[in-house]
Amino acid sequence: MGIDVWLPRDAPEPADPTLPETAPVGAEGLDWSELRDCVANCTRCELSASRTNTVFGVGNPEADWLIIGEAPGAEEDRRGEPFVGRAGQLLDQMLFAIGQSREQVFIANILKCRPPHNRDPKPAEAAACREYLERQIELIQPKIILAVGKIAAQNLLGTDDPVGRMRGRPHELGGIPLVVTYHPAYLLRSPSQKHKSWSDLCLAARLVAEGSA
Ligand code: URA
Repeated sequence: MGIDVWLPRDAPEPADPTLPETAPVGAEGLDWSELRDCVANCTRCELSASRTNTVFGVGNPEADWLIIGEAPGAEEDRRGEPFVGRAGQLLDQMLFAIGQSREQVFIANILKCRPPHNRDPKPAEAAACREYLERQIELIQPKIILAVGKIAAQNLLGTDDPVGRMRGRPHELGGIPLVVTYHPAYLLRSPSQKHKSWSDLCLAARLVAEGSA
């Protein structure tokens, strides 16, 4: 309006009205419990509106093995815990076969919230959630990452390759060995493929042993 506004020399800069009032809280530098709170209150994507619970992950925050799946399903959303259905029981058996348990490893997902009707995660949802998983990896410092299923492996490795092409050989994520295997839900539908997952688990165990030697 042509009226000069005079402010004291040391007055704070006026707020920029084009910016949101509260910027999203970053996960950088957060400790375990701060990160857990940050995830519990996350509204970075539309899944926050339909979730019952966030699914932060379970297990040992100092685990050697980090298992990464896709996203919570209906039961996981209800209980706030990953892999609690039939696929979870098979995952537990797979872990048992390599001398590990749900309490010894850490189990997380690409997404911390359930996509409606168990659809695949959208790239924007995976991107919004990625920082949480990355901070979890930084804090856990696992000796091995086991990516179970196509969605986990493709997101972590940044590729469109099918599981059949990614499994059976070592990969790396930020200096940490990573092995891809089939998702337990797929193995429930295709039990004839279980021997391949067994060989992937043996490869992962070998990488852990080599890294600890
Ligand atoms: N499938 C996943 O990938 N994650 C879960 O937590 C449950 C089922």
